[in-house]
Amino acid sequence: MVRSTRRKFLSGGVAAAGAALLPAPVLAQATARIVVLGGGFAGAACARALRRVDPRFQVTLVEPNPIFTACPFSNAVIAGLRSIEAQRFGYDAIRKEGITVALEQATAVDTQARRVTLGGGKALDYDRLVLAPGIAIRWNALPGYDEAAAAVMPHAWLAGDQTLLLRRQLEAMPDGGTVVISAPANPFRCPPGPYERASLIAYYLKKTKPRSKLIVLDAKDSFSKQRLFEAAWRQLYPELIEWVSLSNGGRVVSVDVKTRTLVTDFDSYKADVANVIPPQRAAEIAQLADVADGTGWCPIDPVTFESRLQPNIHIIGDAAIAGAMPKSAFAANAQAKVCADAVAALLRGDAPSPPKLINTCYSLVAPDYGISIAGVYHPAGGQLADVEGAGGVSPIDAPADFRALEAAYAEAWFRTITAQTFG
Ligand SMILES: Cc1cc2nc3c(=O)[nH]c(=O)nc-3n(C[C@H](O)[C@H](O)[C@H](O)COP(=O)(O)OP(=O)(O)OC[C@H]3O[C@@H](n4cnc5c(N)ncnc54)[C@H](O)[C@@H]3O)c2cc1C
Repeated sequence: MVRSTRRKFLSGGVAAAGAALLPAPVLAQATARIVVLGGGFAGAACARALRRVDPRFQVTLVEPNPIFTACPFSNAVIAGLRSIEAQRFGYDAIRKEGITVALEQATAVDTQARRVTLGGGKALDYDRLVLAPGIAIRWNALPGYDEAAAAVMPHAWLAGDQTLLLRRQLEAMPDGGTVVISAPANPFRCPPGPYERASLIAYYLKKTKPRSKLIVLDAKDSFSKQRLFEAAWRQLYPELIEWVSLSNGGRVVSVDVKTRTLVTDFDSYKADVANVIPPQRAAEIAQLADVADGTGWCPIDPVTFESRLQPNIHIIGDAAIAGAMPKSAFAANAQAKVCADAVAALLRGDAPSPPKLINTCYSLVAPDYGISIAGVYHPAGGQLADVEGAGGVSPIDAPADFRALEAAYAEAWFRTITAQTFG
């Protein structure tokens, strides 16, 4: 059970935020205790980077699950192209680097005492805390969509059981059935993810249930890599995928679990398989630590990733408000390394240098058809902003061998990032 300390530390939080304006006391690095909450793409990478920056740091990684199940490539699991085992990673290599791995859930953060409470009742004191807890679903933000509804209309936006549930439902659906995906408004985890999912499900349907249909109901009028996705859909899945934009009544305003119906501003859609990707926010512990603002996400300093609301706490990965950077595993990994350097500099009493960060998001439209978007980001105007003229998307008119190459790059990226993070 997660226990709230919000009330208890609310006034302290305000005072502490003021204290953040003062220079932090310099600590002897050898004694620095750094706690990292969340052993996903951001947290695990940060814990490792911290030990590499200074092997004397006492780094504790707190994560409740002994095995991490990765979201990137989970759409391929849903489409039957990959096994869930290929998504699973343990923490042995991280332990071997001298990092203490506490397999527990963090249940409270006392920002004044600089102490994290764990589910088992133990407490960890910290000099610097890195929060990397990822996302939580905003249950009931979409009327009718609660935890019980997710057992019937899976979101599959946290990989694991939900991924497998959606896969089983697609397998059980008869040919000629209708799959409906609802995509949320920004911001949310993995902006191209719903459209990659639509593509790979369409690939599965075309092969095994060709009379079926897939409808994407969208709360937006545009989406990541849209021109590339739409061109690929026309080429590979004509008549199979229908995308309904916000302006055309695509925003889902409620769901009815009993009839598997998604209700939009203009219409209602009865699905054989409904994949509801609901609105999200930073995971619960970010709310409890009072580092999330009214948006549900965590404002940060773009140079150090330190919270704008609480001193000595850094937020990385999907939970952070990272300006123009998307919520991706690639971005989480880049932020982890920059944050580790900044934490080390702050502990030395040095000024961290303004970083440049890179992101690339690959998507598979079919197993041998990849597309990508890349960006470079730097602190500007108090946010992480695009570096003008850097980055871009795959060419719209690339030949098939180029698309096949990008699909291979996508797989290579996943192998590399998971090996760097968990291997
Ligand atoms: C379908 C799909 C496809 C995707 N494809 C891609 C892709 O191709 N490329 C890409 O770059 N990104 C992709 N992403 C996005 C990527 O998965 C996320 O951006 C990434 O996982 C964010 O990393 P994170 O560390 O912030 O969160 P996570 O990886 O979710 O890790 C958070 C960790 O924190 C732990 N945690 C939470 N609360 C607590 C607590 N109280 N105490 C201790 N631990 C806690 C959780 O158990 C979890 O292990 C995809 C996402 C989805 C849903």
